[in-house]
Amino acid sequence: MGIGEDVLRKVRALLIDHALCVRCLGRLFALTWPDRPRSEIGSSLMEAAFEEAMRSNDKDLIRGLARSGHAGSASLLRGWGEGEEVGAEPCELCGGKVSSDSIGALVRGAAEKASAYEYSTFSVGTFVPPHVRSLEDHLISAYGLEAAESIRRDVTREARRLFAELTGKQFAQSNPELEVLLDPFTSTYEVRPSPVMVRGRYLKHSRSTPQTPWLCDSCWGRGCDACGYTGRREGPDLSIAEYIGLPALELWGAMGFTFHAAGREDLDAAVEGTGRPFVLELSEPRRRRVDLEEFARRVREFSNGKVEVIGLGPATRADVRFLKTETERKRKVYLVRVAFSSPVPADEVLRACGRLRGSVIEQRTPTRVLRRRGDRLRKRTVHEVTAVQIDERTYELTLVVDGGLYVKELIHGDNGRTRPSLRELLGVEPERIELTVLGVQEPSGTAQSSGGRPASEG
Ligand SMILES: [Zn+2]
Ligand SMILES: [Zn+2]
Repeated sequence: MGIGEDVLRKVRALLIDHALCVRCLGRLFALTWPDRPRSEIGSSLMEAAFEEAMRSNDKDLIRGLARSGHAGSASLLRGWGEGEEVGAEPCELCGGKVSSDSIGALVRGAAEKASAYEYSTFSVGTFVPPHVRSLEDHLISAYGLEAAESIRRDVTREARRLFAELTGKQFAQSNPELEVLLDPFTSTYEVRPSPVMVRGRYLKHSRSTPQTPWLCDSCWGRGCDACGYTGRREGPDLSIAEYIGLPALELWGAMGFTFHAAGREDLDAAVEGTGRPFVLELSEPRRRRVDLEEFARRVREFSNGKVEVIGLGPATRADVRFLKTETERKRKVYLVRVAFSSPVPADEVLRACGRLRGSVIEQRTPTRVLRRRGDRLRKRTVHEVTAVQIDERTYELTLVVDGGLYVKELIHGDNGRTRPSLRELLGVEPERIELTVLGVQEPSGTAQSSGGRPASEG
């Protein structure tokens, strides 16, 4: 390892001012010899500096070397009778916390902890306190150390190599299945399995299952006297999120779940056909390879057949964003069973359907959700309507509409807040409206409604 004049000059200046351990010294010049261990570089630099100091009788440098723990310099000083005054000091940069031993101990602990989880790839992150980073930056710029490597990189690289060696797992820069976090300065470590994401579509065969748990009216989930600190309202049923999430918690051995769905239907609306897309996010899963058919079976069983999941597969964070942003852009297919207060001739219903087909519906925020949402006007298109007569008062309509269109209001008109409506066109009061979501469709052609917040529809 050839050490140039320039490097030696910098080493001298550094060591006269600062006590540094061999690893920190070596790291500050590491990129000149990228493949050599940092502490070996540091030792070689100290030896070279020591020889130079002997040759030129450089007592300042000898003292500096002794403070940084160089044994030869220390014994020389003792020979001069200075041994009492100048002793080895703790490394000013790492405080002696960054060494192969300390990194090894942290990584072994992390590997042991990680063995509780199923994973095949990992990443390593290292925490370095801000005051250490700023001292590091200061040394690098004050002494012109352009070949320096940071503590963070140094520790991370060694830990990564050692962790792979101990566990046989693969390092992955992006989307690792497990994150290892090291803090050599407090001698602590953490392992975090990354969430598992599962996408699919759900069917809801019940008209009394809410999509998400009903939160307590007084505390909105925080827990209070009124709800007995459950945060929940006494609901008619568990929610779809729970029917899907709770069996998943068990199968994946996860700590928690988040249920993301593309929009929501009313409590009393069923979801059939191709179903409603969702992504289930499972945090800190102990298992990652789970039989998805088994999952589907457990959901069906746990919900007593009220909820089914289909089209299951692995998902990513991007799928969640897609769910949220594309919800309103997509078209929804509904089956609506309407019972009118009096008989309605079939040809009148067909004519009304013809007038709704392709028309833009103007809807003020429905009365039933006004309490929760601001009053505004939304415009959504009805793309397709067909009607089948069930009896003289009852019809079954199949609708393809823009996402975000309030379908019940399209039928009953909400006292003129939705126009046009089936009620307005027929002049007959709908008595009962039963909604079933049949699926979500990609818009064909260029017809698109403007996006916005995903909203409740139906
Ligand atoms: Zn150090
Ligand atoms: Zn409460």
